[in-house]
Amino acid sequence: MELDEILGQIERELEAIKDENDLANVKIRLLGRKGLFSSLFENMKNIPQESRKEFGKRLNLLKVETEERIKKLEIDFEEKRKRKKEGASKIDITLPGKIPLVGKKHPITITFEEIIRIFTSLGFEVTEGPEVELDYYNFEALNIPKDHPARDMQDTFYIKEDVVLRTHTSPVQIRTMEAKKPPIRVIAPGAVYRCDQDISHTPMFHQVEGLMVDKNVRFSDLKGILTVFAREMFGEDVAVRFRPSYFPFTEPSAEVDIGCVICEGKGCRVCKDTGWLEILGSGMVHPQVLRNVGYDPEEVTGFAFGMGVERIAMIKFGIDDIRQFYYNDLRFLSQF
Ligand SMILES: [Zn+2]
Repeated sequence: MELDEILGQIERELEAIKDENDLANVKIRLLGRKGLFSSLFENMKNIPQESRKEFGKRLNLLKVETEERIKKLEIDFEEKRKRKKEGASKIDITLPGKIPLVGKKHPITITFEEIIRIFTSLGFEVTEGPEVELDYYNFEALNIPKDHPARDMQDTFYIKEDVVLRTHTSPVQIRTMEAKKPPIRVIAPGAVYRCDQDISHTPMFHQVEGLMVDKNVRFSDLKGILTVFAREMFGEDVAVRFRPSYFPFTEPSAEVDIGCVICEGKGCRVCKDTGWLEILGSGMVHPQVLRNVGYDPEEVTGFAFGMGVERIAMIKFGIDDIRQFYYNDLRFLSQF
């Protein structure tokens, strides 16, 4: 066998290798005890004396070279196998995916949006006022002078002697009436502040104020609008009751109750066995308040109302502790 032929055979064998199995077989065929090189060395005795030495030398070189090439292929396959294993441990495609947390609206936001939806559908505009408010707008202009006992009802955070964190959204009534002439039909949603904390009070909570002023606005308008609101909010069949009350800035005044949504009027812990739940305060705007903003109470009249958003949300969703809204507990918040 000529050396060129041998070389060609080795080359063909090596090029045909596709995997470690092929490599092992080729290694046996070329370098094994009964392999190509063994039989070539055995046949050297048939080679003429004068060229035997040279042939043997070149055959040896070729064998070493072949051994090196096979060794290199073995290392390559070994590394490929290792890389595959490492890669597999980095990305385990059988692991279940992480489901991204999807945010939800806070129950207070949901309630705000529902209240706003109902009143805007009745022609009310949304307006806002400052949370840091002058004593004048929070109290004086609303007919609550310095020595008035109602100031004690509202534990006020004072910034300065004449500046407070607003204790209710009612100052927006004054600011709205100062800024424009009747007809007025606004609601003012926002945060309010009082030094108070227990199962039904938090130092910061939310109210929605409402105000309608025009010629010939009557108590029956107040009743009609607030009845529509209660039914939209709590259901068509809900009972609505107007109960005489007192506020310094309205006259006459009325608390609005709905039939208890828990016991349907039979009496339970939530309604304190009365069968009724208070949802808001209201009344006809006090003539003095109208005069305070330069309106003539002989010419225009109006009604105002204010509701606690937390209170509405608690009744609507059946929550018995107001503080739940502010614990930031996702188990609670994700239910709405
Ligand atoms: Zn009840």
